[in-house]
Amino acid sequence: MKQFWSPSSINKNKAMVEKLQNHGIVTSDEVAKAMEAVDRGVFVPDRSSAYIDCPMSIGYNVTISAPHMHAMCLQLLEKHLKPGMRVLDVGSGTGYLTACFAVMVGSEGRAIGVEHIPELVASSVKNIEASAASPLLKEGSLAVHVGDGRQGWAEFAPYDAIHVGAAAPEIPEALIDQLKPGGRLVIPVGNIFQDLQVVDKNSDGSVSIKNETSVRYVPLTSREAQLRGD
Ligand code: SAH
Repeated sequence: MKQFWSPSSINKNKAMVEKLQNHGIVTSDEVAKAMEAVDRGVFVPDRSSAYIDCPMSIGYNVTISAPHMHAMCLQLLEKHLKPGMRVLDVGSGTGYLTACFAVMVGSEGRAIGVEHIPELVASSVKNIEASAASPLLKEGSLAVHVGDGRQGWAEFAPYDAIHVGAAAPEIPEALIDQLKPGGRLVIPVGNIFQDLQVVDKNSDGSVSIKNETSVRYVPLTSREAQLRGD
């Protein structure tokens, strides 16, 4: 069949960001720009449904979060993702959000992903290489590591922003320790009923916690428990 043109994935990605703006989920230019730059289509197994607002299976009993959840977390962390800042993404999965973080903090900043499934780390590196964040990966301001994210990633601590993409029964102490005073952690907490919690570290090292909204994430757990499907 003859086809003179087809909407490119970049246009579909831009349309997705516009919808998130129309719904009031994306409110800042910085978040919009990062989400426009990083094509979500490169990160999902089924490109044809990449721009639909739903979570999608990525194997290993886990999902890539829905675009509105990624957008909400980017907005909650926005003030802690300025150029030059340091961000940790725990449970980085496809690498999509790590790539958005990296674009926001830029080459002077640092974006670190930690993921406990080595195959997902390998595929996330391929995804990032095909995205606008590729130069940041090459120059080293963006990196993804295999590890248990409940321990954080001490090498580059303290962080201005920490995002956790899986629900913890309680907030891991190491993540609070690795947060900078003035920094912010966004983490889903709970088992069946979960709250997306926003944890701000005060200058005296104490923390203020507020519940943002009810959410449903896969568990932050051990690799064995995840692969068993507990
Ligand atoms: N934010 C990612 C993935 C969300 S799914 C995205 O949207 O693509 C949650 C991810 O957390 C999964 O990839 C899962 O393998 C990972 N995970 C769960 N427990 C973990 C742990 N203890 N340490 C590191 N990664 C973990």
